[in-house]
Amino acid sequence: MTDGHASSLETGDATALPEDVDDVRDALVSWYEADHRDFPWRRTDDPYEILVSEVMSQQTQLGRVVEAWEDFLDEWPTAADLAAADRSDVVSFWSGHSLGYNNRAKYLHEAARQVIEEYDGEFPRSPDELSELMGVGPYTANAVASFAFNNGDAVVDTNVKRVLHRAFAEIHNADDPDYETVANTLMPTGESRIWNNAIMELGGVACGKKPRCDEASCPWREWCHAYQTGDFTAPDVPTQPSFEGSRRQFRGRIVRLLGEHDEMDLDTLGHRIRVDYTPDGEHGREWLRGLLSDLADDGLVQIEEGNDQTIARLQ
Ligand code: SF4
Repeated sequence: MTDGHASSLETGDATALPEDVDDVRDALVSWYEADHRDFPWRRTDDPYEILVSEVMSQQTQLGRVVEAWEDFLDEWPTAADLAAADRSDVVSFWSGHSLGYNNRAKYLHEAARQVIEEYDGEFPRSPDELSELMGVGPYTANAVASFAFNNGDAVVDTNVKRVLHRAFAEIHNADDPDYETVANTLMPTGESRIWNNAIMELGGVACGKKPRCDEASCPWREWCHAYQTGDFTAPDVPTQPSFEGSRRQFRGRIVRLLGEHDEMDLDTLGHRIRVDYTPDGEHGREWLRGLLSDLADDGLVQIEEGNDQTIARLQ
């Protein structure tokens, strides 16, 4: 993807993105649509239900939020029901479900009251207006605007930063990358609901601190700087996740490539699996031979040496 980039990120015009950015977008959305974790709040566009899920998720693991969220909505199905509730009941629900700071329960109760009294029971639709609600910070306001009204900006949380940092070389190499600009330029216009869900899913199940590029069939492998170079560091992953991890990635990639081609010579294979492959360099023939001989020991790959050429194929 390096060839497809225009000028630098410092201009703030998000040119860190590949020229075929539409393909990058489509690949992620298709990957998300084909399969994703099925959290119940992803099946609703009710702003109240989404706000409850967002406030609960701030301190609690998503798996545990599901039950609390369902119980909460059984108890107070609408903002009007919550607004009419006793605050002490809401707070004891919160502590009874171990949902973290009780102040969140108070704020949520207050926000429901605001919607009923100040907005005639209709949730505001823009991130700015939603931030006027009690306890609703910019992140939550944007999430509700996106998931309820498809009217948000790109989410930029730790997961998203990690993905962008790994995927796009200019961000990876920038001293002070402008994640917001890049994230918003990458997001297809007017698609914040599906886009934010998709990129957060990517950061959650594929591009975690220990990346699972091949195992999770990451849709960005063909563009991804980290995937091509083996450098999986990120703002929250200051050192390589693990040598074995990155070695395993490369082994997986070799097997996949050899599955697509009957056979490949050493240098062709090397250039295909990492952009910084140089035959005599640190990540060159010697390094690649090491990987191939491990794969041969495991009975996966056959290596044929001869006439100045090394050919690899699947066994
Ligand atoms: S290829 Fe790997 S490192 Fe790159 S975005 Fe996908 S999961 Fe993250």
